[in-house]
Amino acid sequence: MSEFLRTGHYIDGEWHSAKGQGDGTYAVLNPATGEVITQVAKGGAAETAQAIAAAERAFPAWRKLTAKERGARVKRWGELMLEHREALAELMVREQGKPLAEARGEVGYAASFLEWFAEEAKRMYGDVIPSPRPDSKIVVTREPIGVVAAITPWNFPLAMITRKAGPALAAGCTMVLKPSEETPLSAFALAVLAEQAGIPAGVFNVVSGDAVAIGNVLTSSSVVRKLSFTGSTRVGKLLAKQSADTLKKLSLELGGNAPFIVFDDADIDAAVQGAIASKFRNTGQTCVCVNRFYVQDGIYDAFMQALTVAVKKMRVGNGLEGDTEQGPLINEAALTKVELHVEDALKKGAQVLTGGKRHALGGTFYEPTVLVNASRSMLLADEETFGPVAAAFRFKTEEEAIAAANDTPFGLSAYFYTRDLGRAWRVAEALESGMVGINEGIISTEVAPFGGVKESGLGREGSKYGLDEYVELKYMMMGGL
Ligand code: ADP
Repeated sequence: MSEFLRTGHYIDGEWHSAKGQGDGTYAVLNPATGEVITQVAKGGAAETAQAIAAAERAFPAWRKLTAKERGARVKRWGELMLEHREALAELMVREQGKPLAEARGEVGYAASFLEWFAEEAKRMYGDVIPSPRPDSKIVVTREPIGVVAAITPWNFPLAMITRKAGPALAAGCTMVLKPSEETPLSAFALAVLAEQAGIPAGVFNVVSGDAVAIGNVLTSSSVVRKLSFTGSTRVGKLLAKQSADTLKKLSLELGGNAPFIVFDDADIDAAVQGAIASKFRNTGQTCVCVNRFYVQDGIYDAFMQALTVAVKKMRVGNGLEGDTEQGPLINEAALTKVELHVEDALKKGAQVLTGGKRHALGGTFYEPTVLVNASRSMLLADEETFGPVAAAFRFKTEEEAIAAANDTPFGLSAYFYTRDLGRAWRVAEALESGMVGINEGIISTEVAPFGGVKESGLGREGSKYGLDEYVELKYMMMGGL
């Protein structure tokens, strides 16, 4: 087993491992095989309170370091991830199920946030503002907000953590992380590397276990000044309500319902390639995965046929087997949701071009699926399927496509394919979405602002804007000069 395997919380630089099996522990499963990887200590209110206290104690010394000193440690953290890319990727596949090649990619993507924010923190500039009074000066500085809570999901077990921890730590904040209970092992591995990178005790703490109990303590604590959450819209709204009493600053990266529009003038090969990359990455389990394909009348049959040919070629299996392109779904609940969406669509008139049922491999494997004749009344039009199902709606005009794409409370990412420059601008501007891929299916990068509008969330992660989420402005008026 991995040299990075830990089985319990990391609080104030100390490990609190699981003791055997029983009430205080829970099992982490391999979704490809159903096997228990290990028992992990089940943290709750008491551990969370300890972690918050540790983060509070560590804050003054950490913020006092220069940006260069903090940045050097954060940067080293990222370098260590890359040095141990293979071990981290394998551990991730075991607990999460994604194909090894995607897991290796995620290690690189996750490390990129540490490098980026280690550099960016050096440019946490303030301002001098011309004063309206002759005897005074106005200075604005940017300060770390303080103790930050992070709650992260299972679909990107490393990257969703570093996208928060990178800017938080680089800015001078300290952190208590609650990773998903499905994938705590990757989070613990990150803590091992944080320690090796010289990040002091208490600066980065990890507590996993009872989500509700941990969430309650994090949100009700007046020491925690900020909550950064990635996960479902339902839980995001709940945490926002819970955070209201202590009025925390919030970053919420929530669900999407991404449209992918293919216009008659699109390059079909490029659109198919983008569709596969965006729809089927992580077996359809990302918040920027396409959920609704809108294909224009004139190209509908040709595009759907080409997409189906590509989908039929996808290799399904255990992510650790070298050539796997589609892994299992994370758990039984995820599988049931995909089944429900497909059954509902078929009842309401959709047709299967390929797939459409559980995979012969059993467990939580589902066949990569293409459906045509999707319509507005289907469940998959409203909710993220979060699985390997590409469902296509037909449209005639640009206006119709834009209206349909925007007909959702969500607004995280949207994609469209066209070769008409005027249309590219018109449609990009009209889409109610935080991110738009124009002739592009993969848009995530540490240098660009990731985030949504409408009920897809608040705030942006990554890029020069990402640091602002962990910073407060302080305005100083110096008078009597
Ligand atoms: P997903 O559908 O991606 O699992 P969730 O929103 O359920 O999305 O989970 C995202 C994260 O939120 C996980 O770390 C999960 O443990 C956590 N979570 C779920 N419910 C709560 C809660 N009531 N309080 C705090 N955290 C929660």
